[in-house]
Amino acid sequence: MSNAASPETTRKKSIQKISPIDVYKLLPKTNCGECGEANCMAFATRLVNGELVMRDCPPLHTPEYKKAHEALSLLMAPPVRAVVIGTGDTAITAGGKYVLWRHEFTYHNPTPIAIDVHDMMSKNELRERVAAIGAFSYNYIGRKLELNAVAIRSVSKDPSTFADTVKTVAGATPLPLILCALDPAVMEAGLLAAPDRRPLIYAAMEESWKAMADLALAHNAPLAVFAPGDLALLRSLVRTLLEYGVSDLVLDPGTCADDGLAETLSNFTKIRSLACRQFDELFAFPLLGVPMTAWTGGEISEDVLKWKEATVASMLMSRYADLLIMHSMDGWVLLPQLIWRFNLYTDPRKPVSVEAGVKSFGRPDKKSPVLITTNYALTYFTVESDIKAANLDCYLIVVDTGGLSVESAVAGRYFTAESIAGALKEYAVENLVDHTTLIIPGLSARLSGETEEASGWKILVGPKDSSGIPQFLRERWHMA
Ligand code: SF4
Repeated sequence: MSNAASPETTRKKSIQKISPIDVYKLLPKTNCGECGEANCMAFATRLVNGELVMRDCPPLHTPEYKKAHEALSLLMAPPVRAVVIGTGDTAITAGGKYVLWRHEFTYHNPTPIAIDVHDMMSKNELRERVAAIGAFSYNYIGRKLELNAVAIRSVSKDPSTFADTVKTVAGATPLPLILCALDPAVMEAGLLAAPDRRPLIYAAMEESWKAMADLALAHNAPLAVFAPGDLALLRSLVRTLLEYGVSDLVLDPGTCADDGLAETLSNFTKIRSLACRQFDELFAFPLLGVPMTAWTGGEISEDVLKWKEATVASMLMSRYADLLIMHSMDGWVLLPQLIWRFNLYTDPRKPVSVEAGVKSFGRPDKKSPVLITTNYALTYFTVESDIKAANLDCYLIVVDTGGLSVESAVAGRYFTAESIAGALKEYAVENLVDHTTLIIPGLSARLSGETEEASGWKILVGPKDSSGIPQFLRERWHMA
């Protein structure tokens, strides 16, 4: 596989080289404020930063600005196209990537994870597994982490059996579907059983591309292209499909969970590198990884197979998979993937934060303690969890420190005597209680004197670790 630029390579500007001025020139420049920004230049800056999208500027979508809209769409198009699977609120978007490395620009569209079912399962088994997929949810520092799709495999290779299964699954879940059948006749039966669901068709291969392409066009569905271990063939199939008129493509270069794992990761990396660095149009599509291939790995224990699937999933997510199909439903396999995905797709420029304000716990009254902390999500949820676990009745003031933890916010002067006094005032805390005693985190002890002066409140220095809050209150609050 050569890294040389191909005839299909179209030079574009990478997102880091697009300036707000480039964008501003294509905006209506009326400063109307409909986008919520002070002016078009402010909008342009936030669009380039990925904080807003083009549809946030309504005038741009009127006939008057049609040409500007087209030009801006071209300028802002990511090197890896975004492909939508499913419809409505549960639809997922795979791809839409701008960069190879996360530190260059925030990754967009967190890798959706689909769990497989197959057409040899009974209706009850199907409904149970699909319900479990939909119910799988984990609250991680205030964010709900969930599974995103169901992949239905044809094992029977029988069109009517596959159609029955697709119908059962489609009736049991609103989640997007991936239909997995290599025989076009089986695929067609599946597609007819889930009309209007826009499932991903998996997959077109060398021998079936035309029949699968016809199905994709007839059903307005995205199409996965499968050429295991052969990037030249994958590229050639993509070229053929694009010329045939199918443009919503997902690429599967093959996933090998055993000895071929290094080659799998290398293929994923080559494809993404060519798309993002050389703007190779034939590789400008989302990548599908299939960690469940670990389950074909011979006679080893189930736990080892699950472990292999988990590690392959994490590696593929790190190396550019935009969509995954997995098999195991065990929490210890899936949770690391969901948490890794959350962290991988968090904007590295912005710490994860919660909304500032006053939170009430239990049934606080006028005599209840008032504590204060910062809005770094991990800090807040740790404090919240310790307060809730001890069934405390209290108020907790959350100060906006830009998502910094207590120690960092004190060092960076985001958590200061002034910001604490300001929060007490802004949230009218004096109306909530009939005392003026505030408990600050132990890690901000050095602010106590200044804060007493700035706020007029008596300051108690709480424990450094929020797990010590219950004991601290037992020993100190009645004396305050
Ligand atoms: S809505 Fe569009 S035209 Fe209006 S200020 Fe925002 S960017 Fe400018």
